[in-house]
Amino acid sequence: MEFKELTTEELSQGFVRTNDGDLVCIFCGERFQEGVIYNSEGRMVTAERAVKEHIEDVHQGVFFSLIDLDKQINGLSDSQKEILTGMYLEKDNKEMSEELDISPATVRTHKFNIQKMKREAKILLAILEQIENENLAAERKKIRESGNNIINKTRELHNLDRQFTGNSLHPFFTQFILK
Ligand SMILES: [Zn+2]
Repeated sequence: MEFKELTTEELSQGFVRTNDGDLVCIFCGERFQEGVIYNSEGRMVTAERAVKEHIEDVHQGVFFSLIDLDKQINGLSDSQKEILTGMYLEKDNKEMSEELDISPATVRTHKFNIQKMKREAKILLAILEQIENENLAAERKKIRESGNNIINKTRELHNLDRQFTGNSLHPFFTQFILK
């Protein structure tokens, strides 16, 4: 199974649903068959419950499975992994700074950079969606073909937006730049 082909939803739940409804753990490939009742520690559970318990028991949960991936795959440095683990375990900045032997200011900087990476990752996903999503491409084509009036209006609006970019952008883009 190629990791890059998984959706963010599949990555965060730790399993994929195959075409025939089976559930497959993304970390080891174990398959849980839809409609089969599984025995988990003496209880009868569904395939979905069984795969979730499998991920917790065998892989220590989705968080640690993803964070422990090689830097080549998740792109995270050792310090970023330490900070994220601290956040996951609900440690405060002071606890983290003592445990990692760094200043609280450095902890805050790491956290700030992680949030920055998150925003950038979202923008990249949205950009790639424009390139790769065939439905969006078809929709754009339809809008372009639906008459000159609309095109001109769209251009007008677009130019208007550009003039007022600084004021009209959603705070998602500006909250950290304008500080
Ligand atoms: Zn597994």
